[in-house]
Parts: sequence; structure tokens; C-alpha cells
Amino acid sequence: MPTELKLPFGMKDGKLVQISEVERGLKCGCQCPACNHPLVARKGNKTVHHFAHYQNANCEHALETSFHLAAKKVIEETGYFVLPEVVNDIFYSRQNIFAPTSKLYFDNIYLEKRYDDFVPDIILEKDNKQLCIEIYVTHKIDESKKEKIVKSNISTIEVDLSKIERGLDFNHLREKVVDSIANKNWIYNKKREKVRKQILSNSIKRKIISRKLMQHVDDCPLPARIWQGKAYANFFDDCLGCEFFTGGDDSGEKDIMYCIGHKKEEEIQKLLRQF
Ligand SMILES: [Zn+2]
Repeated sequence: MPTELKLPFGMKDGKLVQISEVERGLKCGCQCPACNHPLVARKGNKTVHHFAHYQNANCEHALETSFHLAAKKVIEETGYFVLPEVVNDIFYSRQNIFAPTSKLYFDNIYLEKRYDDFVPDIILEKDNKQLCIEIYVTHKIDESKKEKIVKSNISTIEVDLSKIERGLDFNHLREKVVDSIANKNWIYNKKREKVRKQILSNSIKRKIISRKLMQHVDDCPLPARIWQGKAYANFFDDCLGCEFFTGGDDSGEKDIMYCIGHKKEEEIQKLLRQF
């Protein structure tokens, strides 16, 4: 938890405001976006101006809630959201870009609206397709949320604001949330996942066999090595660096690998172009 980070936003007359917009002290007339308790505007000379609960309310969600609201506000006002590039990392030894960074001009934006069995921080909607935006201030996406995202098959980007500077205002936040790509990660990309499944289903599942101290894969289509007329590969020396190695197994099955070396390069490229 970034203890340095203090509440820069409050609610006033039903609208989210930043500290510079209000009067000092209780006269600010603001409430906490999470618990609705009155806030005081601390605008002294010693610390960065910020809001604090007037009475020590036991409120844990003020930062998180105010950042969700503030992120939605700046995205909504800007009208677009910059997507980071989608990297093709399906293969182990070839990487290229599925999609360059681009601006998403969305039709609708929703805050904390339920989707299947979880509640994304923000949902952007374009042509009836949804993109989930997770704002990371104090809580990174955990495994259980990630599982739900994968199960729901909804493309998701995490915006990392955990290292954000103190004294934040809407303009600064707009730059971080809307325009920057440095702090955005694809947690899940629906199209990439579709292509990955296609690649795996077109691959051959091969066993990794222990022979003395070596790990072999038989019937290497290249072939990487031949022993007594039979093709094989050394898993660590050959397969791991091979451009046809397509990874392990989703189900966590042991001692197997996937290989697409039996396919022609143009067939592989055709599969990749489905992105
Ligand atoms: Zn509160």
C-alpha cells in the first residue's frame, strides 16, 4: 500500500472534484466517495494538498473508489482510451506484434458494473463488445479475479497507478489513464486467446521421454537429430529454441510438449493472421 498516496479527490454535490477546486478545511463541503463521511481539505504548506476524513472514519476504500471514479471521469471526458500493443507471444522463439497501439473510441462506459460473476472496475463498450479496465492502485489483479476474467472471456487491461506521484490532479491522471501505454498491460486478450487455441489445436502433442540424463522428443519433423535412422530432438537444446515449439499444456499435464513443425510456414502464418 503506497502510504505516501493521499486522497486527491472528493465528492461535492454529487460530482467528483480535485483538491485544487475547493476551499480549505471543512468549508470544502466534500464527502468521501466511498463512505460518504465529510472530508476536510488539507491545504497547508507542509504536505501535498489532500483530503482527509473529518472524523477518523474507518474507511478502507476511499483511495480505490475515488480512483475508479476519477479514471472513469477522465476517460469519459476524453472520449477514447489508448490500447497498448498486443504482442504475439504464443510461440516461444518468435515474437511479433498482433496489433499496434491504437485509440479505442468507445460507445459506452460503465463503472463497477457486474459482468458474469465479477465486477470490473470499468467497462468500455464498442459495437457491443466489452473491454474491462482494471485500475491498480492498492490491489493488483489476483489469481481468483484473473480466473474469472479468463472464464468470462472478456478482454482486460490493467492500468497500474500504484507508483503514481503525490499531488495528483485530473490532467495528470488523464495522461496516465487515457494516453499512456507504459503502465498498461493486457491481462487477457480474447482474440489472442482464440488464435493461441487454434495454434495449439493444430499442433501435435508429443511426449518428452527421459533417456538416461537426456530429455528426448521423438519424431522431430525438422529433424533436429537422427539416431539409427530415427528422427528425434533434445528437448532442452533443440525444442526450447525452436520456432515450431508452441508450448506446454493448459491442463498442466506433465512431460508433454506441443510442436507445429509438421505444418508449412504459410499454414502457420494463415493461423496467425486470424488475429
Ligand atoms: Zn471514506
